[in-house]
Amino acid sequence: MSEPEITAEEGKWHSLNIAGQAIQPGCSYDLHLDYSQNYTGMQIRVPVKVVAGPKPGPVVFFTGVVHGDELNGLGIIRELMFDNELPLTRGAVIAIPVVNIYGMDSHSRYLPDRRDPNRCFPGTSKGSLTSRLSHLIYTEIIRHCDYGIDLHTAAVRRTNYPNIRADLDNPEVLRLARSFGCELLVHSRGAEGSLRRTACRRGIPTIVLEAGEVWKIEPGVVNLGTLGARSVLRELGMLSGRRLRGGFQLEVRKSVWVRADNGGILKYHVAPGDVVEKGQVIGISQGIFGDDRSELISPSDGVILGMTTMPAVKPGEPVFHIALSDVPYKTLKRKFGRSQRADHHRRVHDDLATSLLVDEPE
Ligand SMILES: [Zn+2]
Repeated sequence: MSEPEITAEEGKWHSLNIAGQAIQPGCSYDLHLDYSQNYTGMQIRVPVKVVAGPKPGPVVFFTGVVHGDELNGLGIIRELMFDNELPLTRGAVIAIPVVNIYGMDSHSRYLPDRRDPNRCFPGTSKGSLTSRLSHLIYTEIIRHCDYGIDLHTAAVRRTNYPNIRADLDNPEVLRLARSFGCELLVHSRGAEGSLRRTACRRGIPTIVLEAGEVWKIEPGVVNLGTLGARSVLRELGMLSGRRLRGGFQLEVRKSVWVRADNGGILKYHVAPGDVVEKGQVIGISQGIFGDDRSELISPSDGVILGMTTMPAVKPGEPVFHIALSDVPYKTLKRKFGRSQRADHHRRVHDDLATSLLVDEPE
């Protein structure tokens, strides 16, 4: 009798060896990768969780805290794999809850050498502190996978409505992006040296979730991110149940920042995830005595993708990031936020706006 044929997708599963551990079907592992040493010569290690299903299938990675201050990804991985069992029916999931150990320790996006690990992939073993981290993650984890999801937030003093960043021209990447279930899909290949761009270029379709803000594990984002992660695993046939289908998803190829013209204190008239119309007053800035009032106007129809959480601005500083849309405003207004997951999106929308002063225009 001939051996069953091994598909390309199963090839990596059959030879999976992570941190010196041969991964066996139906088992889960708490592992560590030796990365670096601190000033006293003590070992710095990167924790890795592996869950293998009982049968061959795709190998998928989840990475969190590549930027050391972006903690929502850690929250999503914990909810997905640590606080709950992940009952895979096939394939394997490899999660790195905290890639940038040094950055997280110092509440910083960067490593102590002030480099950005998400610009250093695939890295080198003899390079800088950061390049060595990117190299370790790439050689020990990423290249053993078939697909990937890298979990991020907005940069410091900003928040992002949950959106998937992906190369929408790549059919396999588009499949992952759509199956995650976010309402907003933003096209880009990613920066040179980013984990995502490097993985995609080497035949490992990878998407990025951008959701919420730094230094927080936001419940609404964790909820939506966990549902999205499970939905992708269902799409890949690794979890039982159907992935969420249908619902409106806006694929965006252009975005624009609306910047302040005057220095002053901000009032927001919109929140992350709101649909806006060309010419709409979306915020105002005022001088300290309420004088010198300046309106911030949306230059186009679209959706508020991100915004500053800092309620004071100087001229030229970015305030609102708008995803531009070819879909007419009225259609967008009718359809956006009406997906199968609308209640989860609504919760995130309300959560993200909780600490911002959002009111109606006067
Ligand atoms: Zn990031």
